[in-house]
Amino acid sequence: MTNSTNDSVADTAQTNRSPAPTPTPAPLLCKRKDRFRHCLETSDAERLFLGLDFDGTLAPHVDDPTSAAMRSGNHKLLERLAAHPKFTVAVISGRELADLRSRVDVDGIRYAGNHGLEMDTNPPLESPDSVRSTIGRVCGMLERELASIDGVQIENKGITASVHYRDVETDGHEPEQLYQLIDAVVSDATTDDGKLRLTTGHDVIELRPPIDWDKGRALRQFIDEETASVIPLFIGDDTTDEDAFSVTRTAGIGIHVGTAETLADFQVSGPAAVSELLEWLCETGSECL
Ligand SMILES: [Mg+2]
Repeated sequence: MTNSTNDSVADTAQTNRSPAPTPTPAPLLCKRKDRFRHCLETSDAERLFLGLDFDGTLAPHVDDPTSAAMRSGNHKLLERLAAHPKFTVAVISGRELADLRSRVDVDGIRYAGNHGLEMDTNPPLESPDSVRSTIGRVCGMLERELASIDGVQIENKGITASVHYRDVETDGHEPEQLYQLIDAVVSDATTDDGKLRLTTGHDVIELRPPIDWDKGRALRQFIDEETASVIPLFIGDDTTDEDAFSVTRTAGIGIHVGTAETLADFQVSGPAAVSELLEWLCETGSECL
């Protein structure tokens, strides 16, 4: 898609668009700040609902996911935004909810872990214990099945699990082959609600319960729980964040972190640019609403 077409996408960020959109390159926010500002100024919403991914967005990606931490200054910025009457803030991450809370550690914001399967109110799973039991059993099977592949990390996140392969030598273990190995193990694993399903993300293959739920649905539920009218703004870097961008495409603003093709309206270069945007929202964006 050309830049001019993308510009029209940004122009119509708050209007209905055609169904089944295709990811495309999006314009850099720093070059289209006027359009971003225009989206806020022309919204008749009372508040901005700011949804944020964690890894690669609030926190830089690191080799060891257990050592990930928010950029210096983001804690203070999130506290300021959470306390501001014009903003509601939510962090929606693939991390387990308890892990996410401890890493963000800001009161007065909404949290959703495990891609929205764990929410601080109205969680979508009917039989989480059955899912936990199945995920635990499958993680044990995967530990044995993948033991010979150096660098694979299996993370049991309770109602989901992640197989990280960023440290795996690709020779002989291409992601597609790893996916097939995992699929063979998972294919017979059932919960009370049916079979587990596999999804892919940034150097990760994820095992999820068999319900139709994602970050976009979590974002939509959070918005529906708001008492005031809101314009959603979602910022994230991963393929799973595209589900949230499919929501903001309909009514809101999506900002993708990185250079991949996306359903978002704008792109920023990395977590440092996200911090700059949070600061701009605190200082200036609040005046645009
Ligand atoms: Mg991310």
